[in-house]
Parts: sequence; structure tokens; C-alpha cells
Amino acid sequence: MADEPTEQELTGVETRVSRKPEIDAIGGRTLKPATLMMGHGYDPTLSEGALKPPVFLTSTFVFPNAAAGKRHFEGVTGKRPGGAAGLVYSRFNGPNQEILEDRLGIWEGAEDALTFSSGMAAIATLFLSLVRPGDTIVHSGPLYAATETLIARVLGRFGVHWLDFPAGATREEIDAVLGKAATGRVALIYLESPANPTNALVDVEAVAASRDAIWGSAAEKPPIAIDNTFLGPLWSQPLQHGADVVVYSLTKYAGGHSDLVAGGVLGSKAVIDTIRAMRNTIGTICDPNTAWMLLRSLETLELRMSRAGENAAKVCAFLRDHPKVEHVGYLGFLAEAEGRQADIYRRHCTGGGSTFSLYLKGGEAEAFRFLDSLKIAKLAVSLGGTETLASHPAAMTHLSVPDARKQALGITDNLVRISIGVEDADDLIADMEQALAAI
Ligand SMILES: *Cc1c(COP(=O)(O)O)cnc(C)c1O
Repeated sequence: MADEPTEQELTGVETRVSRKPEIDAIGGRTLKPATLMMGHGYDPTLSEGALKPPVFLTSTFVFPNAAAGKRHFEGVTGKRPGGAAGLVYSRFNGPNQEILEDRLGIWEGAEDALTFSSGMAAIATLFLSLVRPGDTIVHSGPLYAATETLIARVLGRFGVHWLDFPAGATREEIDAVLGKAATGRVALIYLESPANPTNALVDVEAVAASRDAIWGSAAEKPPIAIDNTFLGPLWSQPLQHGADVVVYSLTKYAGGHSDLVAGGVLGSKAVIDTIRAMRNTIGTICDPNTAWMLLRSLETLELRMSRAGENAAKVCAFLRDHPKVEHVGYLGFLAEAEGRQADIYRRHCTGGGSTFSLYLKGGEAEAFRFLDSLKIAKLAVSLGGTETLASHPAAMTHLSVPDARKQALGITDNLVRISIGVEDADDLIADMEQALAAI
């Protein structure tokens, strides 16, 4: 169109210094995420040549002219798809968040991504953007406790229903639950894999096949969203297995240093536009300082997760054969196992992660003695940080879960949850060995 403003009119930036084109391939070679984390989506010429993006502490952005302001608001309000073409107001967007979102999407080959002030803010914004009163949310179970609360106790108050199937469900079991739900409007299918603390994997391919068989190409076909916090993005990429939306608590592996709280959502442009409109309305966007910290975190994501994964494999191999250990629930063991979970693992996962369940011989007293004897591992909930953490789900994260459900989920008094960090693996084994000796 002749009256479309030019890029310079929209951004107000005179590109005297010729901007270097974004490099994402060399010859026929597509650059890997680990390479792109150092520069993708950031142009130093826009920030005085600063190698690293500054933290943009501003609540609002100056429009170069009124036409640009109008165009930006067309993007913000959804009149024009794809969000604002420029920076508008910090509840909607900001340079740090946009660079972060560009880089986050790369890890899973997602068309678009959004970041949020917490994992729960991401999940709540996702739900609010898709559900209407009378709808059903179908989900795998168990879910992260706050997610279950959000569905049952919060959305339930607004007339939203839910149905669930166990995380390890077969295609037939999934068909039965989705078929029952499909008699009404299903807002979305929400998965979490592996389930915490059972570590049961969801067969995302089977869920997608079941959904497609039931809804076909119907316009009301519910999207499949999945919480990929435990294995993503290194060891599991659910968009490749039929999921439409991937959710993260970036507080865990992505942030990776136990020093921030944030969330992310990845997916197609269409679904992300819907979620962005809700985020614009309620303001659940990640703040610029946290976004900046996450940019730093993503530069070492592959290094950290690879090392933590290798450490966990070594520690779990040691624990598995220890006489005071009853069972180790480590996903990496599935690589050489038999059965349905092993089949799901081989189709969906490229690694076992670094968070696992340790069942000690004995009960709460033995578990507490083990936890209190650890010298390197810290006693704290959460996971995915550079440091090794250990906790007792029955007495901590899952304390309020009714006894019968605890038993059903395997949350017994002898269960310890461990998240392995990037320390020296042999030091960690020495720590586990002396703590086991102290029982
Ligand atoms: C921690 C966590 C969340 C919640 O994320 P916050 O960043 O704490 O809001 C959601 N899902 C899973 C699987 C988590 O581990």
C-alpha cells in the first residue's frame, strides 16, 4: 500500500550504520540454538554498539509520529494480527522481552513465543485466553499442584469443567476420556510430562492421534498444550510430537540459577496471538530485568543441561545398586527398559533429565536422616538450578494431598526428590554415599 509507513517512520531509527543482516545459516547449514543464543534478535547498532542488550527500564515508548502510534495499537488490540509492529508500552512488550521470546522459540522451532512473570502466570494466561463457561479442560494427571488448583478451584468457580486421564494412559484410555469430553465444547487438552513426582510420561503422539480422530478438521478442534518444564527444551520437544502449545516454568532449567521466577509459552503464530491478547489485557508479561537475566541463562542452557544430565546419569547409576536404596525413579533408565513407558520415552525423549525420585529403604525417619546428612546438596524445593537440591514431597510440596491420593501417586514417606546440578559428579556421589551411610 502506498500510504504504509516505512520501517524508519515506524521505528524512528535512522539506520545510518548499515544493520548487519541476521545470520541463522551458513551455506546450507542451519545454525544450532546454542550458537544463536549469543546474538539472535539483537542489533547492537540500536543500542550504542553495546555487545549485550541493555536493560530497558522504561514504562512507555515514544512514537515517531501519530500514524506509527495508530499502527502499533492496531497490533496491540488485535485489529492487526501478530502483535504490535513496534514498542508501545511495557505491559505489552519491551526490547528485552522480545529478544528473549525470539531466542526461546528457537529451541523448539516454534513460530512464536511469549514470556511471563512466572510459570503460573503463563499457565493462567493460556487458560484465560481459551476457556469459556461450560467448557471442559481435559488434562493428564497428576499436574503441578498450583495448576490443578487453578483448574479445579479457580476456573471451576467460573463454570469450567475438567476431566483427566492418568499420565501413562494408553491410546484406548485417552480415547475414552476425550470421547466423553467431546459431547460438549473442549477448550483445550492440557498435559504435563513427566508427571511430578511419579515421573510417568504422557504419550503425546497418542493424545494427538486421538484428538485428530475425534475432531478431524472441525473448527472447534481443541489445541494440545503441554508443560515441558522438566525435560525441555533439551530432552523433549513436544511440538514435534503433535502438541500445539508448549508451556514452561522458566524458573527451573531455563533460568537455571535459582535466582528468578518466570514463565514461557511457545507455539504457532495463531495461538500465540490469542494468548498475547490476553497477556496485553492482564499484564502478566515478564519484567525487563528478569528477561535480561534469562538472556544470560539461555547462553549456557545447553552446557548446563548437558552437564546436569550427565551428572544425574552417574549419580543414579551409583544409587541404583546401593543396599539402602529401594528404587530410583530416573527416566534415563527407560532407554534400555521394556514396556509402555520405555516405548514412550524412546519416541519422545532424548535424555532422562536431572530430576528424579529416590525411594529409600525405611520411612520418614530414614528419609529425613538422609536429607539432614547431605553436605553439598541443599534442602530446598524447586529444580533445574546449577546446584543440587533435595526435598521430601510427602512432608513438603505434597503435604496437603489426601493420604489415599498420596499412595496412588507413589508419594510415600521414604520418597526423596532430587534435582542434580552442574557440580562435579564424583563429589555428588561422595555426598550421597556419606548421607546414605548416616541413615
Ligand atoms: C515450578 C513449576 C510450575 C510453576 O512455575 P512458577 O515459575 O513457579 O510459577 C509449573 N509447572 C511445573 C512442572 C513446575 O515445575
